[in-house]
Amino acid sequence: MALPTENVGSLPRPATLQAALHDYDAGKISRDQLTKEQDAACLDSIERMEATGAPIVSDGEQRASSFATYPLTDTLAGTGLAENLVADGQYFAVFADGHHRQLPRLTGGLFKYRTYAADYVKKAMSMAKKPLKQAVIAPSMLALLYPLDGIVDGYTRDQFLEDLCNECEKDIRGCFAAGAKRVSIDFTEGRLACRKDPNNPWTGRGMLAHFIELNNRVINRFTASERANIGIHTCPGGDCDSTHSADVDYADLLPSMFQMNAGYFLIQLASEKDKERVYKLLGQYSRQDANGVAQVCFIGVINPLNPRVETAEEVRDDLLLASQHIPKERLGSTDDCGFSPFSIDNKPKHGSPDVARDIAFLKITSRVKGTAMASQKLGMG
Ligand SMILES: [Zn+2]
Repeated sequence: MALPTENVGSLPRPATLQAALHDYDAGKISRDQLTKEQDAACLDSIERMEATGAPIVSDGEQRASSFATYPLTDTLAGTGLAENLVADGQYFAVFADGHHRQLPRLTGGLFKYRTYAADYVKKAMSMAKKPLKQAVIAPSMLALLYPLDGIVDGYTRDQFLEDLCNECEKDIRGCFAAGAKRVSIDFTEGRLACRKDPNNPWTGRGMLAHFIELNNRVINRFTASERANIGIHTCPGGDCDSTHSADVDYADLLPSMFQMNAGYFLIQLASEKDKERVYKLLGQYSRQDANGVAQVCFIGVINPLNPRVETAEEVRDDLLLASQHIPKERLGSTDDCGFSPFSIDNKPKHGSPDVARDIAFLKITSRVKGTAMASQKLGMG
């Protein structure tokens, strides 16, 4: 068995699609016209990802408003926002370059998704020749829709969390039922929860343990064989070529993170200063037996925030070094993050989203090649 390799999920939306989203928000084009642009971007994403040689592909999240808000709103500007949500919620994150992203705020029950990730999988299945993966959002992120203090009229926090867990479970099961081979849960708020950013109140509330417990409430509803194909993605954020929690020490997050009973983890690492130290932590804290499933560590070997294309040799060498600390049967490779988790992202360091798209496929090609080279070196075919 060769080392597995898998992307996180998103690709930059083409400039034409980003323009179409603005036009749709402005009422200049119809929903059908927007859908046509999204269809074209999904098909292009799948075909080009397949051409890299990747064993598993995604639609690049070209239909999603963002990795976090796809269940809630059609566009980032709030077109199609669910009825019991308003725009003025908590900051999900304040990024190192000063920009921020805000979540909606819940104003009443019952909480329900407007869109499930399975809706994307169904459409992608007819376009893909290779197995598909789908990313979904973690309950721990959407828990932030509920105001940090106080209660929503007629809808307690406990009621909300129960409804939220049910919706997340349904989201994951729907992806598998629609044909996805793998489902990874985006958990970027995990590392941010360790940051205690004075400009972002929830990060100072010590919420990591609550996040882990909440995510396990959903993950533990799946069998061990299902969980082998349910992953967790951790990163310090990746939006407009900037991060939100790269200064948080992984040692603060990883012991808790591996308590989640998921079968695999997609871990930002290419942009870490001291990779070997983190490889050691992964070897130390990932579990051979997480309630019946072995935890596979997919190390980040590609940095989507930097336009420089990593070489296949660099990818190979990262994996070989990691294999000294992580059992090779539980090792794989990934990108540090999605290439554009938010639909509107001008990729400033790349020059434009279209340039960033071209670069993304070159980077994925390097990941695939370098992973095959490492597999061979490790006697894994
Ligand atoms: Zn990420």
